[in-house]
Amino acid sequence: MQTPSSEERRFFEQAVSRYQADLALDAAAQAYLAGRGFGELEAGQFRLGAVRTPLTGHEQYAGRMAIPYLTPSGPVNIRFRCIEQHACEGHAKYLSLPDGGSNLFNVLDLKKDSPFVCVAEGEIDTLTLSMCGLPAVGVPGVNTWAAHFSRCLEDFDTVYAFGDGDDAGGKFSSFLAKEAKARPISMPRGSDVNDVFRREGADGVRRLIAE
Ligand SMILES: [Zn+2]
Repeated sequence: MQTPSSEERRFFEQAVSRYQADLALDAAAQAYLAGRGFGELEAGQFRLGAVRTPLTGHEQYAGRMAIPYLTPSGPVNIRFRCIEQHACEGHAKYLSLPDGGSNLFNVLDLKKDSPFVCVAEGEIDTLTLSMCGLPAVGVPGVNTWAAHFSRCLEDFDTVYAFGDGDDAGGKFSSFLAKEAKARPISMPRGSDVNDVFRREGADGVRRLIAE
């Protein structure tokens, strides 16, 4: 994991706190999160935010959801997701910070007492698994996997890979099978973890690893 300077850490902490406060005033962003199963409690736990009053240098993220990369020593990165109800033509659904680098997402779950850990494609699916009681880390996509991430997973008896139920997801899972000895979870065609959660609840998500 990249180590931000103490000044950068303070800036991340300030940004994450600010966007959490912004979320509390943003009904549209709250509705977006609620639609994916994240209530006030979960949003608070994961310190999700909405960018209404961007800090200097974050102006281009205004209107987006802020997803912090939390670690035991505070946030070390933030990614920004578009939450408009459209197909995101002409702009990216997710924006990263310039020089944000690539970190493993949701590493706090690595500290949980569990014989297994899940690896998901994308932050929302990672948090969905975690919310369902399945410890999970994630990366935005297979191309952002760094070799040392695999070492973080070595202490677990089983690693489950949750690629989406499409061709890219299949590649994600087979990559992790090779890279981290992960067991690929077969997802319903066209669905991601959050889709399963919305259709079948936490039990439906937990059933995926029991099959
Ligand atoms: Zn968009």
